[in-house]
This record gives sequence, structure tokens and C-alpha cells, in this order.
Amino acid sequence: MKDPITLGDILSARKSIAGQIVRTPLRPSASLSDVVNSPVWVKCEHLQYTGSFKLRGALNAVLKLTDDQKHKGVVGVSTGNYGRALAYAAQRTGVRAVICMSELVPANKVDAIRALGAEICITGKSQDEAQHEVDRLVATHGMTMLPPFDHADIIAGQGTLGLEILEDLPDAETLLVPLSGGGLLAGVALAAKSVNPAIRVVGISMERGCAMIESLQAGQPVSVEELPTLADSLGGGIGLNNQYTFDMCADLTDDFVLVNETQIADAIRAAYQDDQYVLEGAGAVGIAALRAGLIDNPGRTVVLATGCNIDMALHRRITGGENVDLGTAKGAGATT
Ligand SMILES: *Cc1c(COP(=O)(O)O)cnc(C)c1O
Repeated sequence: MKDPITLGDILSARKSIAGQIVRTPLRPSASLSDVVNSPVWVKCEHLQYTGSFKLRGALNAVLKLTDDQKHKGVVGVSTGNYGRALAYAAQRTGVRAVICMSELVPANKVDAIRALGAEICITGKSQDEAQHEVDRLVATHGMTMLPPFDHADIIAGQGTLGLEILEDLPDAETLLVPLSGGGLLAGVALAAKSVNPAIRVVGISMERGCAMIESLQAGQPVSVEELPTLADSLGGGIGLNNQYTFDMCADLTDDFVLVNETQIADAIRAAYQDDQYVLEGAGAVGIAALRAGLIDNPGRTVVLATGCNIDMALHRRITGGENVDLGTAKGAGATT
């Protein structure tokens, strides 16, 4: 049996990555508070280095490697933000990184990862297919595979966000957490509920293909079809052999909410126009749920704005008022 992840792991992660990440601000949002008639704060993790919270877990995991593992290098598979984070973390620590990704990952994300000094390997039509190449590199070169969410050190790293939120707002009542593989939610909820067991954690995903919610409903990890969505960073499965996040999300999540593409676009637009935040779709699903009235009795609410890595041409179309539907407009700029 694997050891469960504890608050102690999150506290050590925090010590380990301190000074190498941004302690992002928690800012009140007057516009969101008006919409829901409750005080709302935004945890501005879209301002994190590499443009998403994924750096926290990646850095914690790379720093915990042995010298031999560091010498042989790390390999990961990613829709973009995790690849960028792992590349950055490896570069900062002088470790070789190979990032494998599917052909569907948008060009802006691929270029950003390459610019961070990682070797890129583009293969297959899904994350699962890219995973085969990862397995080969592990078997033939002794590299260490660091997965994007289902790993104790990754989850502990993401949990540092929960510590920061509760430090800044000890009486927070509701946390709105974007949900895909569940590393973020598992870490944040564990940290937050260790400090305040009464806090409500809501996992938010897109209607188009939420693997975690479908898996929890099925009682076991299931595969879902990957569909084009504005929340492309929330695409992908949870792993049929899931070790941590499936159980942790089942135990630690109070509610699940799904948002549609129109609601995500509205949130990207509102974040930009009302609060001057550039958010990608995945980073805006919490705002989408609030604005759509999908959170009952929110109370003192913190919404996690998790990432900013959106194709800026797509962002301009959305904020310009265009009704962007990636499901019908092929090649519109975001994919799973
Ligand atoms: C990866 C990601 C998420 C979801 O994180 P999980 O740990 O996979 O649930 C949310 N928002 C952004 C911007 C991401 O990159």
C-alpha cells in the first residue's frame, strides 16, 4: 500500500519550493462579489511563473529526486501547462527534461516548452498515446517519469496553494477549484481541510469530457472521449491505474459543478473586462460557475484562477464578443 499524503508533506513542499515560486496574491473581486452577492476573492495563480500552478508540484517533485535520478533526467507527458512547468523546474535545477505530447497540443504551448530548454517529442493523437513514448524512455534510458497529477510529490506541491489561501483568508468558506486529473484539488483540499475541516471544496470542470467526475460516478477510473473545449488544460483522462487522486477527490470534494463552453467564454471575457485578468479557459471555470449561478450559498468564496496560457488571438476573439465554439470551428486555437 502506498503511504497517504499528509499535511506534513505539503508543509515540506512549501519549504522546499519557497523562493522559487511566486507567492501569488489573493485579491478581492468587486465585480464577482456583486454578481453573487457574497464576498469573493481570486487566488491569482495565473501570475505564477510559467503561467500556471503546475510549477509548484513539478518543482517539488524534481527537487525530491536523488542525485542519480537527476543525472538521468526526467520525462513527462503534457497538454501544455505541466510540460512547461516541468521544463522550467528541470532547467532551474540543471536536470535534462524530455516532454512528450500529442499532435493536438496547440503550437503556442509547444513553442513555450521548447523555449525553456526541454527536448520535445510529439507523438500520437492523445495523451495516452504520448505516454507510450514516455514508457520507452524510462525503460531504455533510466529516466524518471513524473506524471502531471497522480504522484505524491506533485499533489503535495499543489497543496501549497491551499496553505497560502488559508493563511491569507482563514475564514474562507468555499473554495472553487478547477478539476481535471485532480492533483490540484487533492492537494488544495487536503491542506485547506487540515486547517479548517468545515471548509467546502467544489471541483469544477467542463461539460465536454470531465474524466474525474465520470470516473467517480462510475465508481472507478474510466476513459472519456477528448473533445475540443476552451478549457483545454482540463482535458485528458485520470489514468485507469490511478493511485492517489481518484480516492482523494472522492473523499475531499463536497460538490462537483460542470460549466459549458458559453459560460467559460463569458468568464474569460468578464475576468478581462472587470478585473483585467488574462485567463485561459481552465483557469476561468470557477468564475464561470459563480457567474452562471451554479454555486449555492457561496459565502466567503475563493476562486482559484489557475492559468493564463491561452492563445492570444483566441483571447481577443472571445473578449471582442465573438461566440467562439471550438466544437464546430476546427483549428480555432485550442484543443485537448
Ligand atoms: C492542470 C490544470 C488544471 C487542473 O489540474 P489537475 O491537477 O489536473 O486537476 C486546472 N487549471 C489549469 C490552468 C491547469 O493547467
